[in-house]
Amino acid sequence: MKKIVLATGNRNKVIELKELLTDFPVEILTLNDYPDLNMPEEDQPDFAGNAAKKAEAVSSHTGEIALADDSGLEVDALSGRPGVFSARYAGKDGDYDANNQLLLKELKGVPPEKRGARFVCAMAVTIPGDQTYIIEESCSGIITERLQGKGGFGYDPLFLYELAGKTFAEMNSVEKNRVSHRGRALQGVLKLLKETL
Ligand code: IMP
Repeated sequence: MKKIVLATGNRNKVIELKELLTDFPVEILTLNDYPDLNMPEEDQPDFAGNAAKKAEAVSSHTGEIALADDSGLEVDALSGRPGVFSARYAGKDGDYDANNQLLLKELKGVPPEKRGARFVCAMAVTIPGDQTYIIEESCSGIITERLQGKGGFGYDPLFLYELAGKTFAEMNSVEKNRVSHRGRALQGVLKLLKETL
């Protein structure tokens, strides 16, 4: 059976990817199966570059198919920031509260029609002896003026998905995954794997 190494240590992402690949005849491995693998720095100017860098490093170390992702939020009124720096926008990596407070501060006084934003997710699949495939998807929304909802993570309480009339933090995971940047990119990856392997 073919193996796919998920280039992430994030437990939620591993669970989500495993669920999606349940009916697919591959053995799923994660970075926990390769404790001596050092991941490269995410220093590329775009999501696709970072995802490709990670997938290629993991594939070349393991000799297996590797899947990596990179995602973030692009805000129109901030000329696309925080973008690839979304996780450490306010300084400390993964400090969701500080990131949300800084976003509200930077958008103070910006009217609703100018608060457009999109989540972007790039997924890279490196197949040994073949190439690295990139699938990038996005999901558009509006940055709210206050935190709304308790679910999700990161910028979810500030991201209004207009078609649902709710923020991502007010949607359950099934509702969110159906329309989110990551859900859409994962569907693309599944299609690619079915066609390629
Ligand atoms: P990474 O792809 O795990 O590096 O995520 C980068 C950052 O983008 C996260 O730390 C979050 O701040 C933000 N982000 C990415 N996807 C989402 C999402 O679905 N909801 C909320 N925040 C997200």
